Amino acid sequence: MIRPDAPSDQADRLMAADSAAVRQARGAKAAVDPWRPIAVWDEEEVAAPGEMVDCRVVFLAGAECPFTCAMCDLWRHTLAGPTPPGALPAQIEAALAHAPAIPPMAAGPDPRWIKLYNASNFTDPRAVPVVDRPRIAALVERFERVIVETHPRLVDDSLEHFARSIGGRLEVALGLETIHPVILPRLNKQMTPADFAAACTRLQAADIDARAFVLVGLPGLDEPASIDAAIDAARFAAAAGCRHVSLIPTRSGNGFFDRLAADGSFVPVTAGAAEAALAGSLAAVPSDCLVTLDLWDWDRMAGHCGRCRAARRARIEQMHRARALLPPAPLDCGCRHEL
Ligand code: SF4
Ligand SMILES: [Zn+2]
Repeated sequence: MIRPDAPSDQADRLMAADSAAVRQARGAKAAVDPWRPIAVWDEEEVAAPGEMVDCRVVFLAGAECPFTCAMCDLWRHTLAGPTPPGALPAQIEAALAHAPAIPPMAAGPDPRWIKLYNASNFTDPRAVPVVDRPRIAALVERFERVIVETHPRLVDDSLEHFARSIGGRLEVALGLETIHPVILPRLNKQMTPADFAAACTRLQAADIDARAFVLVGLPGLDEPASIDAAIDAARFAAAAGCRHVSLIPTRSGNGFFDRLAADGSFVPVTAGAAEAALAGSLAAVPSDCLVTLDLWDWDRMAGHCGRCRAARRARIEQMHRARALLPPAPLDCGCRHEL
């Protein structure tokens, strides 16, 4: 259940994000070379409970997303203008040619899946030039699953065409973020939960899988309310047909959320709250929907310590692999697992 606690007047004023306010709060972009990927590594993905695959993750350099969501920090590594034709195929060739710094974790010499995350929308011709799509499809032909990302309102027929042109199965990652009726409009996502559900329906009709990104930690809400909101959103995404819900602890550091953090309107969730959101979501959604907690920032989160951090991460990873709740190990360090 979504708690009725709406943000305070002060938080409400601060959170009245529009594109101009979000842009005004930003710092400078990083220098980005359009002919080199931002980052490449391999990570473990859950194909099904107990079945792991290696996935090559490619952060592509390209045009900035036009949506300007309040919590987004992806704009920092984007170009000032459109993606030059030819740049993305060159980046993908480089990402496939060189072994990443982080070695594969699951068995097998080569990753079977690939993520092409472009910090924007795969269906936006400004970000992914139409002329490059056949070459991109050919480059990822050998992968069993190709995962791209786009805004739910930009799901269109080009995805079905791309799905037919690759050798494996296409999965489209969509940011749901939250279904909280007060917070979602203030994130400047420019989307409703109904838009998200419609996008999922369209993908299903085209036999394309969907993955949802759900935020853990919302401005104007305390931790228990943020946990409940994440579980509500996970339940919504599963009901909309997503095969995977990825819980993302909300980060500051993008300018606008730093202002909210300075005002006290946004506090990044603790490790215990993230664990609670994962446990609650695993229990709330049907078993055919995978649920994972993004651990990219785990080590930087508050609420764990040097004595429990690694063991708690290992438990979360085990929960991902098994798609099951596991009992928390007793802590003798003073930290708490869950709220
Ligand atoms: S739609 Fe995604 S990439 Fe675009 S601004 Fe929002 S969070 Fe960032
Ligand atoms: Zn501890």
